[in-house]
Amino acid sequence: MVDDRLLGGSKHELDSGENNLRPKKFDEFPGQDKVKDRLKVMVKAAKGRNDPLDHVLLCGPPGLGKTTLGYIIASEMEVDLKVTSGPAIEKKGDLAAILTSLPPSSVLFIDEIHRINRTIEEYLYSAMEDFYIDIVTGEGLGAKAMQFKLEPFTLVGATTRSGLLNAPFRDRFGITERLDFYSSKDLATIVLRSAKILNIKIDEDGAFEIASRCRGTPRVSNRLLKRIRDYAQIKFNDRIDQLVAREVLVELEVDNLGLDYMDRKILKIIVDKFEGGPVGIVTISSAMSEQKDTVEEVYEPYLIKEGFLIKTPRGRVVTKRALEHLKEVSI
Ligand code: ADP
Repeated sequence: MVDDRLLGGSKHELDSGENNLRPKKFDEFPGQDKVKDRLKVMVKAAKGRNDPLDHVLLCGPPGLGKTTLGYIIASEMEVDLKVTSGPAIEKKGDLAAILTSLPPSSVLFIDEIHRINRTIEEYLYSAMEDFYIDIVTGEGLGAKAMQFKLEPFTLVGATTRSGLLNAPFRDRFGITERLDFYSSKDLATIVLRSAKILNIKIDEDGAFEIASRCRGTPRVSNRLLKRIRDYAQIKFNDRIDQLVAREVLVELEVDNLGLDYMDRKILKIIVDKFEGGPVGIVTISSAMSEQKDTVEEVYEPYLIKEGFLIKTPRGRVVTKRALEHLKEVSI
């Protein structure tokens, strides 16, 4: 019997009903074309051979669709899916309980796989490579190790920090894919799709406005869509167009380049307290009273990608673009 805490409790499912917005098939998933095309071929080939798919590692910043792709892989393979996360697996026994309960060929999705503890990670090696685990029964001199054969399965791991995975662990994934921030065009498609599912009236210009101001991230575009819907319902006749989207985004403190309050706070702290940098990530995080990992995993990648921040060996430095933007922006 697998403890319920370990399964189905991914942080994504606990917040804001994201599940009903998740595309279920590759063809309903806009963007990430190259990743999607490669996965499609591999899924089709594995299915054609009646084999489980090779283990897959999905890397990239939060909210770009790693969990969604995990679900899609299981659904396209037409196999069972079990979902857990690195921090939820506290003991070898937790992992053994999950692995031994997997039906044949199923997909095990482990979110935040870089946060799995080292001994448990090593315990996964034989499971991934040869589909067995060692189970120790008894204690002291009477202890006995037994090899327990597992049903073949596919591990899909998601991580925001692939650099933190040990090389031997990383090498056991036959397929590694990196997700990147989305184009505004793909995000507009995502916004229109979500609006349709949620029964929100929005025109293309309104969708495009959200798409170009959501940090290249579907989770953010969906969240903004829902918040703008609230304002539209109360103040704007229940319809979202470009003007409505613009007005509400100002209320939500999302600026014309799509940076939010926290993005600007990071840049402002570096400028005001540390003369623009270089300054270390630990110092920035404590000045913001934020976790270092949150600053590094959630905020920084987009600021770096958009050329507001650079990483140097001596610390983070704001760019000319950031300085100009902070001067211009009035929120
Ligand atoms: P991650 O696991 O990378 O943090 P998720 O897969 O949980 O991200 O996606 C976050 C939200 O964004 C979900 O509601 C999901 O439906 C939506 N989403 C992500 N990628 C896409 C996409 N390509 N098309 C439509 N919705 C997407």
